[in-house]
Amino acid sequence: MSTTRLNLRLGLTADSLTAAVLIGAAIADGGLRWPWALVTVLLGLWVFSFIEYAAHRWLFHGRHTGLFARGHGHHHLNPLGYDALPFFLPPLFMGALAGVFSLVLATDYALLLAGVVAAGYAAYGISHVLIHVHRFKSPRMQRWVAFHEAHHRHANKNFGVTTGLWDVVLGTRHRPRPEGSGPGH
Ligand SMILES: [Zn+2]
Ligand SMILES: [Zn+2]
Repeated sequence: MSTTRLNLRLGLTADSLTAAVLIGAAIADGGLRWPWALVTVLLGLWVFSFIEYAAHRWLFHGRHTGLFARGHGHHHLNPLGYDALPFFLPPLFMGALAGVFSLVLATDYALLLAGVVAAGYAAYGISHVLIHVHRFKSPRMQRWVAFHEAHHRHANKNFGVTTGLWDVVLGTRHRPRPEGSGPGH
C-alpha cells in the first residue's frame, strides 16, 4: 500500500486510462455487435460491483490479508489520507482479467468486459475520494455519502461504495436502529 498523494493521483489517472485503452481496443477490433455489446457492458458493471464488494469485505477487511488489511486500516483511521494500492497494480489486474476473459470470450468482447470492469474501478476510486472530501448538496448524494460513512463507524457493514446492491443481497447493509431501541452494532 502507498500513502503518497502522487501515487493516489497517478492511480486515479492510470485507472481511467486503463479503461479507455481496453474499451478503445475492443471497439477498434471491429467485431462488436450491438445487442451483445450492451449485454457485455451490463455484465461488466455487475461483475465490477461484486469485485468492489468482495475486495472490500474479504481482502481489505480480511483476517489474514496482511498488507491489504493494514493499509485499509489506515484509511479507516484517517479517511482524508492518501492510502491507496500502488498505482500500477489495478491496471495489471485489469490486463490479467482481459486475458482470463479471452479464454472464454472472443477477444473484442473480452476486452470490452475487462474495460467496463476497469471503468467501474476508476469510477469507484474517484467516488471514494469525493465521498470523503466533497460536500454534496443534493439529498440523494448525501444519502449515498452517508452509506459509506456508516461503514467507517460499523466496519462489518456497507462494503459497497458505488452501490449498496451486494450489501442488500448478502445481508451486510447497515440499518440504523430507531432511537431508544438499544445500542446499534
Ligand atoms: Zn472510506
Ligand atoms: Zn473499509
